[in-house]
Amino acid sequence: TAKNIGRARFAWYDADLDRDATERAQIETDLREAIVTGQVQPWFQPIVEINAQRLTGFEVLARWTHPERGAIAPEVFIEIAEDSGQISALSNSLLRRACLAARDWDASLSMSFNISPRQFHHPALVSDIKLIIDETGFDPTRLTIEVTERSVIRDFETAREKLNALKAMGISVALDDFGTGYSSLASLRQLPFDRIKIDRGFITNIEQQPQNQKIVSGIMSLARGLELDVTAEGIESREDLDFVKQLDCALGQGFLFDKAVSPDEVAWLLQTKWSNLRGSRTPGDGET
Ligand code: C2E
Ligand code: MG
Ligand code: MG
Ligand code: MG
Repeated sequence: TAKNIGRARFAWYDADLDRDATERAQIETDLREAIVTGQVQPWFQPIVEINAQRLTGFEVLARWTHPERGAIAPEVFIEIAEDSGQISALSNSLLRRACLAARDWDASLSMSFNISPRQFHHPALVSDIKLIIDETGFDPTRLTIEVTERSVIRDFETAREKLNALKAMGISVALDDFGTGYSSLASLRQLPFDRIKIDRGFITNIEQQPQNQKIVSGIMSLARGLELDVTAEGIESREDLDFVKQLDCALGQGFLFDKAVSPDEVAWLLQTKWSNLRGSRTPGDGET
């Protein structure tokens, strides 16, 4: 009967939930260990100056390869870290490791670091970052903190104070995933961002998406008016690149250039593909 099916479904669903809860609790415990032992690592994705095809720096992206489960997506373990009170430990460990790695790069290269909503609201956010900067000696003017709208909309007043405190240290601030939320414009109007990052949902395959072309072109003129730097995320093809280039978008990021690479691979990238830090050509571009 329908009632039986309903009940059976319910029981099935319930068992699933239980299994998920147990699994999640296990991942939570494993994460605690993984943060301490350095199993969660900062990886680095190049950010490129589009016109000159020159490397400007890297975005730090967290990677966790679980010994039994394999790679776990950052969105998944960051949310677990937020819910289980581990986000500060995770974020601070990543930032410290990233700053130490970045000290070996050319001093012209910058580094972008993501702060999750709950970490942004943590009372110690600014003092934690300051401590890590002091301890590692990383030049704060080379650092950009990326936050999403979700971090700032709850309370613009507090958000403004935090962003200004970061800026007072010489750090730049960027609004990440721009265009995907409900109050992108209010966030821009009320808060002192230096840069926006256009979400990759608007950029990937843009040449086939007339709506996205209009939106991105609108975002570009808005940004120009407000004197904000713009990074286009999710550049996957030559066509994507050509489109944002034609709109005068200064900075780009995406699989066309590179995926996030391990700290060791950064050194190799800097010596080979991106060895042109003084504005010369990318190897392979050829002479014309
Ligand atoms: P995000 O900050 O917007 O980071 C960009 C994401 O887009 C990264 O995914 C990156 O690998 C991916 N991506 C870059 N270029 C392309 C492209 O051309 N095509 C496609 N399809 N994807 C591209 P990832 O590493 O999986 O990170 C996802 C999100 O997880 C990040 O979005 C960020 O919100 C969060 N996240 C990652 N690392 C950290 C971290 O260390 N701390 C915090 N708080 N959040 C992090
Ligand atoms: Mg980001
Ligand atoms: Mg983003
Ligand atoms: Mg994103």
